[in-house]
Amino acid sequence: MEEYVNVKELFGCDVFNDAVMQERLPKKVYRELKKTIEEGSDLSLEIADVVAHEMKEWAIEKGATHFSHWFQPLTGVTAEKHDAFITAPMENGRILLSFSGKELIKGEPDASSFPSGGLRATFEARGYTTWDCTSPAFVRHDAAGGTLCIPTAFCSYTGEALDQKTPLLRSMEAINTQALRLLRLFGNTTTRKVTPSVGAEQEYFLIDKDKWMERKDLIYTGRTLFGAMPPKGQEMDDHYLGTIRQRISAYMREVNEECWKLGITAKTQHNEVAPAQHELAPIYEAANIAADHNQMMMRIMKKVASRHGLRCLLHEKPFAGLNGSGKHNNWSLSTDDGLNLLDPGRTPHENIQFLLVLTCMLKAVDEHADLLRFSAADVGNDHRLGGNEAPPAIVSVFLGEQLEDVLEQLVSTGTATHSKKRSKLVTGVRTLPDFMKDATDRNRTSPFAFTGNKFEFRMVGARDSISMCNVVLNTIAAESFREACDILEQADDFEMAVHDLIKKYATEHQRIVFNGNGYAPEWQEEAAKRGLPNLPSMVDAIPALTTEKNTAMFESFQVFSRAELSSRAEIQYEIYSKAINIEAKTMIDMTAKQFIPAVIRYTTVLAESVNAVKAAGALDTSVQMDLLKKTTALLKKTNTAMKQLEKLVGQVNTYPEGEKRARFCRQKLVPAMEVLRSPIDQLEMLVDKEMWPMPSYGDLIFEV
Ligand code: ADP
Ligand code: MG
Repeated sequence: MEEYVNVKELFGCDVFNDAVMQERLPKKVYRELKKTIEEGSDLSLEIADVVAHEMKEWAIEKGATHFSHWFQPLTGVTAEKHDAFITAPMENGRILLSFSGKELIKGEPDASSFPSGGLRATFEARGYTTWDCTSPAFVRHDAAGGTLCIPTAFCSYTGEALDQKTPLLRSMEAINTQALRLLRLFGNTTTRKVTPSVGAEQEYFLIDKDKWMERKDLIYTGRTLFGAMPPKGQEMDDHYLGTIRQRISAYMREVNEECWKLGITAKTQHNEVAPAQHELAPIYEAANIAADHNQMMMRIMKKVASRHGLRCLLHEKPFAGLNGSGKHNNWSLSTDDGLNLLDPGRTPHENIQFLLVLTCMLKAVDEHADLLRFSAADVGNDHRLGGNEAPPAIVSVFLGEQLEDVLEQLVSTGTATHSKKRSKLVTGVRTLPDFMKDATDRNRTSPFAFTGNKFEFRMVGARDSISMCNVVLNTIAAESFREACDILEQADDFEMAVHDLIKKYATEHQRIVFNGNGYAPEWQEEAAKRGLPNLPSMVDAIPALTTEKNTAMFESFQVFSRAELSSRAEIQYEIYSKAINIEAKTMIDMTAKQFIPAVIRYTTVLAESVNAVKAAGALDTSVQMDLLKKTTALLKKTNTAMKQLEKLVGQVNTYPEGEKRARFCRQKLVPAMEVLRSPIDQLEMLVDKEMWPMPSYGDLIFEV
């Protein structure tokens, strides 16, 4: 019998959440902490001491022995350093367990080895972690035992952000301020806070761990660098939303339970398009918590996979020729009193506030399309964006029939007088209930789609943090709102002014709206005509971070300083060069040590067979000879391509670190890697499977 799971009891049982705080903290302390969480007021050390003490008592009851400031440096993964609660032994040899307010609020990991893009020299390596009390602490259980994890931001001695979280929190303040201004203009006096809400749908692959162990490319780079397509790929669409196999179901169940314990609202799970590909989506929440939870979820997915003899691949493109994995970042603006600024209502044409917000967003995305593209730049995502699956590398907005029609009316006549109505869905079967359809159908190819009451940014890579894209969304929205408010607050006739402004924005930024097929090659041409940026690779996208226009925007909201931006750009270039280098070296390693020897063994077998057949008096060795010729020719090609790649890898360090080196990797290494891959994938189709040194694509994706 399966053990019965009580979700209500399980949910959040390892989280120091509001209910726990209310129960355990003295009333006054609870109130003070709430004020800090909700309004950002200062927290005194006395209060922090009490909170820390209660947090420790609670964590110890949960089995925690250590605490850890948990942060998100610019490596793309999370970081932590564990400290036991123990203090120095007393005279009688016993010890006390303690955790102070100071330890809760501030940590100083010696984190000099994290990338800082020149912000810190290693000799002045102080970096501090500070408690983000808006994201709840939790106890994590794993092989290390129980650890009280405290979500923190990570900054340098001089206050520069060295992580993903700090700018996210800053951008949340920016959008809060500007959105409140906008609400006030429309007579709203009650809303006190506007928070970006984010729901990140996570795609992933699951493969067998033993097979994974046999592939150096998966081990070192997270993706396959070689591999011929099996006879069957994803063309039948029989995996998408198909029945979930028992082994995978057992995995998903455990992932859900682990998520729920940590207060992560794992909700929707299904098989994705590619064989062995799946998706998990939580329910949306405040952007910084969503970002934390997404990191926690990725970790859980990996950990649980291991327990099930599986390996969870979060790379954006583990297999060439199959769909890659992304992360749809659903974004909207929620108020503390339950409104959603992106809710159009039934009759959007009458909803002036919504139309202003919407056209402000069009303006924001149009003016900073390059930055939004950058926010999804990731080495692995280069294989996805612009491929025939995920959104293209060109940023555009999909509004859907209803809103596009309203916009059209605004632009052509200056006023929108009607909204297309929802209609009944008629199936033609009397026993099926009719219901009201959504006003708009979907478009799966758009990178930035309006989906009812939120925007869905579909470019983010599966492995990437969602922080940066939300930093960008929050800040560009804040800038747009600020500009609108600056104008409208001065207007004598508000009604008139807002009407004019909506029309102006709708007209000026219509080019960013595209409802067609984003995968079609014609769109590339059309987008070029419209003057929309098309930045196919990460290296092309990084400069967007430091343009004067984008720098001015970030600086004006104090989301990033100029120095922080240029350090981030440096780090991105470095990450790119390093990742490509590792891939190239892995290819050389596999070719030299595995493929070439295997092919030589096979050609030897062929040659021996020719002799044996002849010795036996038979004359026809044409098949063997044919294979021998083909494999020998491809072997030669392989060897030449490998030598060329080796030569190029040797040149990498002659280019200065940063943009120059990254461009060299992009322009020389990447194509040379493709040249090496091609003959090897052809050889895989010729060589005896018994002699091929690693599992094939078919073995990996169909035998899980
Ligand atoms: P869709 O069918 O449009 O993909 P879902 O209801 O499946 O929408 O939701 C996808 C993700 O979007 C989920 O994580 C969900 O919680 C999130 N989401 C739903 N509404 C909002 C909203 N108003 N703001 C932000 N995220 C949202
Ligand atoms: Mg979706």
